[in-house]
Amino acid sequence: MTLTNSGTRKALPFLTLIFFLFSLVLVWSFFTLNHSNYFHQLNIRHFKHTAELTGLISAPIKLFPTEEPLNLEKIRQTIIDIRRQPIECLSITRWSDRVLMKLIGTDSIIAICENDLIIANETLDALTGYKNGTVSTQVLQNQLTKAVSEFQSNSVKFEHPVETTINLIANVTIWLIILSSIIVLLLTILISRAVAIVLTNKEKAMKALAKSEERNKQLAYNDSLTSLPNRNSLDHKINTAIAKSSRNNSQFAVMFIDLDQFKDINDTLGHTVGDKLLIEMAKRITNTVRANDSVIRFGGDEFVAVTDCFVDIEIIDSIAHRIIDAISKPIKLDTVESYITASIGIACYPQNGRNSTVLLKHADTAMYQAKNAGKNQYQPYDKRSATKQNRKLSIVHQLHHAIKNNEFSLAYQPVVKLTDGSTVGSEALLRWTTANGETIGPDEFIPIAENSGQIIDIGNWVLEQACLQCKVWHDAGAINHAMAINVSSQQLKDPLFSKRLSDILTRLSLPASSIHIEITENSVITEDQNSVTTLHELAELGTKLLLDDFGTGYSCLSYLKDLPFDVLKIDKSFMPANNTIASTIIAMGHELNMEIIAEGIETEMCYEFLNNLKCQYGQGYLFQKPVPASEFDIFKNFRSN
Ligand code: C2E
Ligand code: MG
Ligand code: MG
Repeated sequence: MTLTNSGTRKALPFLTLIFFLFSLVLVWSFFTLNHSNYFHQLNIRHFKHTAELTGLISAPIKLFPTEEPLNLEKIRQTIIDIRRQPIECLSITRWSDRVLMKLIGTDSIIAICENDLIIANETLDALTGYKNGTVSTQVLQNQLTKAVSEFQSNSVKFEHPVETTINLIANVTIWLIILSSIIVLLLTILISRAVAIVLTNKEKAMKALAKSEERNKQLAYNDSLTSLPNRNSLDHKINTAIAKSSRNNSQFAVMFIDLDQFKDINDTLGHTVGDKLLIEMAKRITNTVRANDSVIRFGGDEFVAVTDCFVDIEIIDSIAHRIIDAISKPIKLDTVESYITASIGIACYPQNGRNSTVLLKHADTAMYQAKNAGKNQYQPYDKRSATKQNRKLSIVHQLHHAIKNNEFSLAYQPVVKLTDGSTVGSEALLRWTTANGETIGPDEFIPIAENSGQIIDIGNWVLEQACLQCKVWHDAGAINHAMAINVSSQQLKDPLFSKRLSDILTRLSLPASSIHIEITENSVITEDQNSVTTLHELAELGTKLLLDDFGTGYSCLSYLKDLPFDVLKIDKSFMPANNTIASTIIAMGHELNMEIIAEGIETEMCYEFLNNLKCQYGQGYLFQKPVPASEFDIFKNFRSN
């Protein structure tokens, strides 16, 4: 198509040139024809005069009547006619015509005219002679006769070439005209075909352009995987719904749908299976909502449904319910029957927002509320929990810069040997003062960091700092000081965790036994092979493993047998320790040959009680609150004062 186009474009100047040349030939032909006509006129005139003279000679009586005296005037006029005819003949022949005559081989006409002139002059001479009385009528007649016969013979000579030339010119001209016409016709056909091709190509190009524009539009506003409208069309859908609802004085809902376990499926079964799942879920959601509701793929595993207007809010519950049900139906992925659930956040217009940005934001917040409430459910937007949610988001946001901005520090709380009150170690507890000067407790920000994955970097920072501090205290003489470091379940899943710790220990020349790793009971996930491996690696390294907050978890106690824990830390919620739970835990620890540390010792009574139960170690405000390293006395004995 492009070739034809460019070929036509290249041929066009050439065709135009040919067309122009033939047009010139045509114009020239018309002029030549005109000239032929002109020569013909000359010829006719010549013949006319010749004929007249011939008539006079053949009937001399007209010139020389016997009864009348010689009519000199008439004779003179005849001679002048004879003379004038060739002169006239020559005089009307322009120079350019003469050149033309020579070119086309008809210059004999000039010769003839010139001959005629000589004859006429001779005749005049004779006439002049007669005027002087030296010529007889007979001589005069003879002269005239001679002149006329010269005319006749010259006329024959004249007639033939002129006629032939005229015919030739006429024929050539006619052929040229015919040829030109054919060529012009062909050219016209060719050009019109070329123009038609160009126009067709242009039309095709326009159609292709329109098609590709349409396709681009499709791509811009539709998701290529699920064929659903994408987030670019979301604003438009919500704004249309707002306009409709305002007109009808009704409501509509924006539902933010997020698949709960999509990431796991994607990571374990691969992206192709993940894509298949998304396509299926898109279909299920679309088939579940009503005909006038819109479903949009927001991105990743997130979908947004914008419902049509409604008056009764209950309809939204029913739609959300149906979506949850549809999604949770089993799906066969890669020959494996899988299950996935969704969390849905709902924001309604106008009560939860009056523009698309707010509605979407609130639906998104509500979706997070649904996730936090245990997933596989829907939650309407709730302002109060949204505030909590926003606080979480703000913490996540601030945590991003916390390490870089040196906002973290460690506080240390002594671990006391209950029998003699000596300080045997300390627990490193993370402290965070944000850039705005706000102090946020670990109980609040650690779970958030665990959820957002930021705990890995934070935990590594704690590990490094606590080991450094332990080294400082060892170097200061407390060579048996044990540093307890809290480690979250996410860190245990990291296959490089024990290697990282052992590298630090090697670098600082610290014995592994000086580091105690505290893991809360709830975060011991026996199903996660990486975590189990890490625990064994740590035990092999020589670090002690402490089960933190013991008694608060709901896990099965079998891990006490299977995992290499050395110490149980009784949670502070069981203090004051005059209760059976604390004593039972201590007894169990003894049975299992485990050491016991009691947290939250605040009173002497509690201390005594635990000491009597042979609980070896304790921590609590009674001894000291967590303090910065600079305020920590590594040699402090809490019995001696
Ligand atoms: P935890 O590991 O059980 O730490 C003991 C918590 O009890 C500390 O709270 C400590 O200040 C507090 N405490 C100590 N003695 C007493 C007492 O006599 N009475 C009362 N009422 N409380 C006492 P903190 O420092 O707020 O830490 C809270 C939790 O945050 C920790 O509980 C631990 O689970 C977590 N955490 C702290 N630092 C880190 C860290 O670096 N990494 C990780 N993963 N978690 C940490
Ligand atoms: Mg702890
Ligand atoms: Mg604890």
